Amino acid sequence: MRTMRFSYPEPKNEPVLEYRPGSGERRLLKVALDEVSSRCPDIPLIIGGREIRTGDRGDVVMPHDHGHVLATYHKAGPAEVELAIEAALAAKERWAALPWEHRAAVMLRVAELVSTKYRFALSAATMMGQSKNVHQSEIDAVAETADFLRFNVWYASRLYGEQPGSETCCLNSMDYRPLEGFVYAVTPFNFTAIASNLVLAPLLMGNVVLWKPSTAALLSNYLLMTIYEEAGVPAGVVNFLPGPGRVSSAVALRHRDFAGLHFTGSTEVFRAMWRTVGESMDRHRSFPRIVGETGGKDFAVVHPSADVLAVASAIVRGAFEYQGQKCSALSRCYIPASLRDEIVGQVGDMLGAVRTGDPRDFRNFVNAVIDEESYDRCMKAIAEAKASAEARVLFGGEGDKSRGYFVEPTVIETTNPRAPTMEEELFGPVLTLYVYDDEDFDGVLRLCDATSPYALTGAVFARDRQAIVHASDVLRNAAGNFYINDKPTGAVVGRQPFGGSRASGTNDKAGSILNLVRWTSPRAIKENLLPPEEVGYPFMAEE
Ligand code: NAD
Repeated sequence: MRTMRFSYPEPKNEPVLEYRPGSGERRLLKVALDEVSSRCPDIPLIIGGREIRTGDRGDVVMPHDHGHVLATYHKAGPAEVELAIEAALAAKERWAALPWEHRAAVMLRVAELVSTKYRFALSAATMMGQSKNVHQSEIDAVAETADFLRFNVWYASRLYGEQPGSETCCLNSMDYRPLEGFVYAVTPFNFTAIASNLVLAPLLMGNVVLWKPSTAALLSNYLLMTIYEEAGVPAGVVNFLPGPGRVSSAVALRHRDFAGLHFTGSTEVFRAMWRTVGESMDRHRSFPRIVGETGGKDFAVVHPSADVLAVASAIVRGAFEYQGQKCSALSRCYIPASLRDEIVGQVGDMLGAVRTGDPRDFRNFVNAVIDEESYDRCMKAIAEAKASAEARVLFGGEGDKSRGYFVEPTVIETTNPRAPTMEEELFGPVLTLYVYDDEDFDGVLRLCDATSPYALTGAVFARDRQAIVHASDVLRNAAGNFYINDKPTGAVVGRQPFGGSRASGTNDKAGSILNLVRWTSPRAIKENLLPPEEVGYPFMAEE
C-alpha cells in the first residue's frame, strides 16, 4: 500500500479562446465542423462498457438545417434500463473502493482531454447538434465542462478533509461514503457542460450512474461518453441510455436501489419525476437524494439612476445569446418611464447589428432554437402578443422554419405586468418589457418578486447605492443568482455557484461544494483508545 497525501490547489478557470479571423483555433474548429457535418455516426446505448443497438432508432438533426441528419441513435427500452442497473450495481463496489485520488485523476484526465485533444471536436458537435455559435460553445462545452471537473476535485478534497476533532482518549473521523445504490442522471439539451457535470459529480464521490441524455444533445453527449471511457471510467460505472425519459424513468425511479436523481430540465418534468419517486417510496432501500435545477423567468429591474448602455447591452446579450435558451436568460425587464425611449433606442441599434443564421457562419450571433416544438411555442406567444391590446412587438416578431428553426430576437412591450410572457418560461429569444412610473421603484420590486413562480436569476441596474441595497433586500428570495449591474446569465464555475429556489429547483448549487455533499452519505466513526472496564460513574460513590 502506497502512502501519500495529495493536495489539490484551487484551480484556475479554463481560458476562453477567441476564434478571431486568421487564428489557429478558428482554422482547427472549421476542420472539426466539416468533419462533424459529414460523418453520420450510429449512436448506441453503452451498458457495462458494451455497445448495444436496439434497432428502435431516431435521428439527430441540425436545428439550423433540419433536413441534415447528423447521426442516428438507438433508444433504450425497459429491458435495457434493467440491464444498465445490473451493470451499474456490479461495477459499484470496485469504483467506490478505489482510493479517491484515482477517481479524481480520471476526472482531471477528462478535463485535459476536453480542453486539448477533443476541444474542437466537442465544440463542433455542440455547435452543430445544439445550434450554438462558437463563443457560446467554447464557454459551455469546453470551458465549463473542464471547470466543473477541476473545481469539483478541489471541493471534494476540502469536503473529505472536513473531519471532526479527536480528544486524547478517542479518535473521530468521517467516512464520506457514496450513496447505496445508483444515481440516475437526466440531462438537458442546452448545456453540454451541465450534462457532463450531472454525471461526473456523483461519479467523483464514488457513485455509479445511469445517464439519460437529452435526444437533442446526443451528438456532443455521446462524444463525452467516449471521452469518459478513454479517460479511464471503468465499464458499468456510467451507463449511457438515450431514448424517451418516460421509459427509463418508469424503471429507474421505482427501483429498490435507486439512490439519487441528478436532474436539470423543466419544472414540469421534475415535478412528474418527484411524484413517481414519492409514489415508489415503499420500494426504495434508502430515501433517495433528489437534486433538480429547473426553469426560470429571469428578470432585470432598472432603476432611474442606471447606466443606459449597460442596460441595453445586458438586454441584448442576456435575452438573446443562445437564442434565450439558457435557464438564466433574461425574459422580463422592468424599466422606468424616464429611461424607456433611450433604452429602447439603444436596444434597437444593437439588435440592428445582430445577425441570425447557421453557426458555421461566424458572423451570426443568434442561431436556431432547438426543435419545432420550441419554434412553435415561441411563435404562438409572439402571435398572441401581436393580437393583444396590451402588448406590441417593438423588434423582431417573425420566424422561419422552412430550413432551420429560426425565431427573430423579439422584444415585446406590455402594459400588463402579469401578461403571459412576463410570467411563463418560453425558453426562446423573446423578451418582454414593462414600463413603470419612476416614483414606484419599491412597488415594481414587489411586483417583480410576486409575478412568476420561478426564482432562478435576476439583476438590478442602478448607480444609486440605496436603490441597490433596497432591491437586493426586497428580491432576496426572487433569485438564487443575483446580479448587480450585470446581465443575469453567464455564471462561472467556482465564481458564481448556480441554482435557484421556488419552482426553479432544489438550489443545490452546481459548481460548488454544496452539490457534492448531496452525493455522499457520511459515516461518523469513533474509536475509543481506552475503553472503560467498569459500569459505575464517580457520582455513584458513597458520601
Ligand atoms: P426537459 O425537461 O424537456 O428535458 C430534460 C431531460 O428530461 C431530457 O433528458 C429529457 O429527455 C428528459 N425528460 C423529458 N420528459 C421526461 C419524462 N417525462 N420523464 C423523464 N425524463 C424526461 O428540458 P430541456 O428542454 O432539455 O431543457 C430546458 C429546461 O431546462 C428549461 O426549463 C430550463 O430552464 C431548464 N434548465 C435549468 C437549468 C438550471 O440550472 N436551473 C439549467 C439548464 C436548463
